[in-house]
Amino acid sequence: MTISNITSSLGNFEILSPEEQDQARKKTTGGVGWVPPHWISHPVPADYDISTPPWIRPEAGAMSLVGVNVVDVESSKIHPSQTVKIKAGKIVSIEKSQFAHMQEDGWESINAGGLYLSPGLIDVHTHITAVPATNPSAIFSTNLADTALKTTYVLKGMLYRGFTTVRDVGGATRHYKEATEQWLIPGPRIFQGGPVLSQSGGHGDDSDRDDISLRNGPHRGAEGYVADGVDECLRAARKLMMAGADHIKICSSGGVASLTDKLDSEQFTVPEIKAICDTVRMMVTAHCFTSQGARNAIEGGIGGIEHGHLIDDDEVLKLMAKKGVHLTPTLIVQELLARPPYNAIIPPSSREKLKLVIDGGYKVIKRAHELGVNIAYGTDCFASMQPCQLSEFDLRATVLPSDVILKQATINGAKVLGMEGKIGIIKEGAAADLLILSSNPLEDVTILNKPLQYLKGVIKDGRVVKSTVDGLRVEVPLV
Ligand SMILES: [Zn+2]
Repeated sequence: MTISNITSSLGNFEILSPEEQDQARKKTTGGVGWVPPHWISHPVPADYDISTPPWIRPEAGAMSLVGVNVVDVESSKIHPSQTVKIKAGKIVSIEKSQFAHMQEDGWESINAGGLYLSPGLIDVHTHITAVPATNPSAIFSTNLADTALKTTYVLKGMLYRGFTTVRDVGGATRHYKEATEQWLIPGPRIFQGGPVLSQSGGHGDDSDRDDISLRNGPHRGAEGYVADGVDECLRAARKLMMAGADHIKICSSGGVASLTDKLDSEQFTVPEIKAICDTVRMMVTAHCFTSQGARNAIEGGIGGIEHGHLIDDDEVLKLMAKKGVHLTPTLIVQELLARPPYNAIIPPSSREKLKLVIDGGYKVIKRAHELGVNIAYGTDCFASMQPCQLSEFDLRATVLPSDVILKQATINGAKVLGMEGKIGIIKEGAAADLLILSSNPLEDVTILNKPLQYLKGVIKDGRVVKSTVDGLRVEVPLV
């Protein structure tokens, strides 16, 4: 044994040579045990790779989960005792388990007998950068660096809870997406659209109501972007595309948290919405509570409605089903804001709005399901509410069956993101974004909101981030 081997086994990674680093990369266990090159000695070999960022991990390893019960969210069935092989971040095969699968060369085999394998969860209405401010009198941090650093904590929490994909609908940029793609920070895969587009005085305009100077553009750090008229809307949408948006979010009705607009106010004219949709030709989704706001947004060409809790017109829901406009209700955020301690966040003037949207939320989720609208899982939790992200399961379970809700949090979310068949499903070729559970979520989806009891493992992109399963080693810890 060489000196470097002895010390590396003691955990002193600093003297690993480039060759030893290479060997670590080639192990079937991929990044497990990999140590980043925090130290190199001068003279540095001339062929040392400086084009790859040093935090890029070796390809995810080859792993075989044997004897696991596969949760088929599409058919609402369990396929018992399967061997699921994953390699380089993808699911490569699924077959009936045999004893020999526990001892195959090149595969790290895990005995997962009796456990359930579910696709990782997808939350399509999050605000990952809506982090608490250091100053306790403010709800959000508005400093970009402060926000970025605190968001690393939020992202780890989301993975811990089993969310392997999230869509941010106001605040995040492509930099957060790239950071988690590269595992610079552990977190779910991120889809982002930058700030929310709002008209002046709309849900995304949080400027001082007594300041009536005309200052359109980005507001509140990075979460709102105010534009008025077709030309400004076009310019704003194009700027957001330039910044790398995966989608655009607009506000087409009033909101609960915004102080200066009425819930039933119609925001943006149809020509403004149409201009945005025609320009970007990608997913445009609308913050919208009301039937009329939804009608305008659909007429303008949007692809999704966020919240939608006051849509009381079946014709609107039928139109959504027909046109494939997605619906993402967010029950939990309103329930949280309605009672202590979080009601302190909402000014008294907004509390009346809350009562309306809470009742409406349960009605619309049930009716939209009956009418065939694609409903996705969304939470909208912000600031110190983020840890309640799983409670949406409990609330939806009061009006819908478990298997329907699990679909919403997996394949339906994948549809919203244009990622059907690639995430939110266990099949060959899909991303290895997986949850290992000790109970069947198709029978009772609320077990997902008891992670200490039932969530035994979380794998994202083929890398284990959380595990209490024997032999399943954590590659990227979340602490
Ligand atoms: Zn929101």
